[in-house]
Amino acid sequence: KPKSIEDLSGVGQAVLNKLIDAGYSSLEAIAVASPQDLSVAAGIPLTTAQRIIKEARDALDIRFKTALEVKKERMNVRKITTSSQALDGLLGGGIETRTMTEFFGEFGSGKTQICHQISVNVQLPPEKGGLSGKAVYIDTEGTFRWERIEAMAKAAGLDPDTAMDNIYYMRAINSDHQIAIGDDLQEFIAKNPSVKVVIVDSVTSHFRAEYTGRENLAARQQKLNKHLHQLTRLAEIYDLAVIITNQVMARPDMFYGDPTVAVGGHTLYHVPGIRVQLKKSRGNKRIARIVDAPHLPEGEVVFAITEEGIRD
Ligand code: ADP
Ligand code: MG
Repeated sequence: KPKSIEDLSGVGQAVLNKLIDAGYSSLEAIAVASPQDLSVAAGIPLTTAQRIIKEARDALDIRFKTALEVKKERMNVRKITTSSQALDGLLGGGIETRTMTEFFGEFGSGKTQICHQISVNVQLPPEKGGLSGKAVYIDTEGTFRWERIEAMAKAAGLDPDTAMDNIYYMRAINSDHQIAIGDDLQEFIAKNPSVKVVIVDSVTSHFRAEYTGRENLAARQQKLNKHLHQLTRLAEIYDLAVIITNQVMARPDMFYGDPTVAVGGHTLYHVPGIRVQLKKSRGNKRIARIVDAPHLPEGEVVFAITEEGIRD
């Protein structure tokens, strides 16, 4: 099965360039194109357009499925423990593979600590709530600390050096760099199939900082959406978990509104996945709440951030 447009059969470099120039740079874009549009835009025969559209749809498994098939697909989803039973319960058992999970909340609400914890816990054997896998950690804010990995790994009964060796870390310097890393991830993970979680902490900060002002909102959103869809595809193709974080200001006056809309952007609104809002509580306690997940009951749970990591 093709994993990107480069793999489509009978598509040489010339046609590939035409497709990309015409904006059909992903399997998704091709899968939902009309044969006529694609044929004209890329200057290829109609029959070729029809053929590659079909191939793209097959690759993405776009077809009618029975509900039973959908159920069976979902049963294959695997879960990574957060080290808090309450938080796992809220998430329906833990962080899911084939899914993008977003943690959003104010500064200090625990987003980065959860990312550290998952990059350790993914390494645990399945009977302890892991996937015996490795982690990719993309850090945009410079808040990754190996000391925290060491402490959490020890507390989880893992050898700290081995645990650190199983985390592929990259600092993203700006949004273009972040997107370029995203572009390269597919190849990286194809070569390193033991990677079972990809973390981007935070996914939004560079975009917010670089695209300021109303007039830049649309451009920002377009770039961010492309990046997010890329990550979603990774989750689906490689059966891995994707975790993103998103810092939003606490706005007590907006308590009843959607907190992400309140800070100027339907940031991650149109991308499927699970969204978890984090809030500070007393001391080391934090509150987690699921936001608009179709299959999970609404509710709040309390967890704690300790020296050993995330706990109940
Ligand atoms: P966010 O990423 O949402 O801004 P963090 O995940 O960085 O927030 O959480 C920061 C909080 O984590 C700190 O306020 C502190 O309470 C807690 N924390 C960080 N390191 C430790 C530690 N070594 N021991 C206990 N708690 C810690
Ligand atoms: Mg953080």
